[in-house]
Amino acid sequence: MKGLAGKTVLVTGASSGIGQAIAIRFAQEGCNVVLNYRSDSEEAEQTAAIAQQSATEAGHSVQTLLAQGDVAQEADILRMVHSTIEQFGGFDILVNNAGIQSEFASHELPTEKFDQVINVNLRGAFLCARESIKHFLAQHRSGVILNVSSVHEIIPRPMYLSYSISKGGMGNLTKTLALEYASRGIRVNAIAPGATITPINESWVEDPQQKAIVESHIPMARAGYPEEMAASAAFLASEEAAYITGQTLFIDGGLTLYADFRESWS
Ligand code: NAD
Repeated sequence: MKGLAGKTVLVTGASSGIGQAIAIRFAQEGCNVVLNYRSDSEEAEQTAAIAQQSATEAGHSVQTLLAQGDVAQEADILRMVHSTIEQFGGFDILVNNAGIQSEFASHELPTEKFDQVINVNLRGAFLCARESIKHFLAQHRSGVILNVSSVHEIIPRPMYLSYSISKGGMGNLTKTLALEYASRGIRVNAIAPGATITPINESWVEDPQQKAIVESHIPMARAGYPEEMAASAAFLASEEAAYITGQTLFIDGGLTLYADFRESWS
């Protein structure tokens, strides 16, 4: 995609699911990729190997860097950004993908569980964005920040209060940063996946009955694939999207179209 080859991309939570697909897609586009992972170095190494292989098959030669770090820890983020700049001289694109969820009735949601989800999904995204913007401004780079939000940015999800709040907040993080830095050449957008086949959804992905229930709510009658999310991520980070900022692109098979209205009510 236009303008991506030769860029350096930092992807958080890059060793599985959507983050992994995004890392691989950017490598295919000719980008150097920094793969942040929290704990599973083997998974991260495998992802880096697939990314390298995919880049080669697409006719590119790219470098990858593994960056262990917990995005809930500010010191880890500073270390990750520092090692990225040290290795590549700088970076151009941040993908805030790392995310977790936890299921509790809201009146029984323990404070520490609430904090944990917010700290990873929202505070972590803010800290990574803040450090990236500092870097883009210092090096006069026209940087791109891409947040991986969710349909739950706008659809409330009972039993997942902290997750819903984190993604709702991510929508405003996207818009506010986009407005604040638009005149300085920094674009900030989000992709909002619907139900996607990744490890975070193991509870229904592996269970045909549960999967059918989930898919019955989706107008296109199927869950999405990580590669479909990665394609939109590449587009929004590319020069094809040079005039797009502050937007959340919903990639959800129509889930946000109020599927219950498919049949007329009388
Ligand atoms: P996943 O569990 O495979 O990916 C999440 C990744 O984040 C994992 O690699 C995990 O190790 C990493 N991570 C978690 N906590 C971290 C931390 N503290 N520091 C660094 N990395 C951490 O699931 P996924 O579906 O690929 O999720 C990726 C993103 O997509 C998340 O932000 C999620 O909210 C969002 N999303 C997923 C779906 C879906 O249906 N799968 C739908 C909407 C949004």
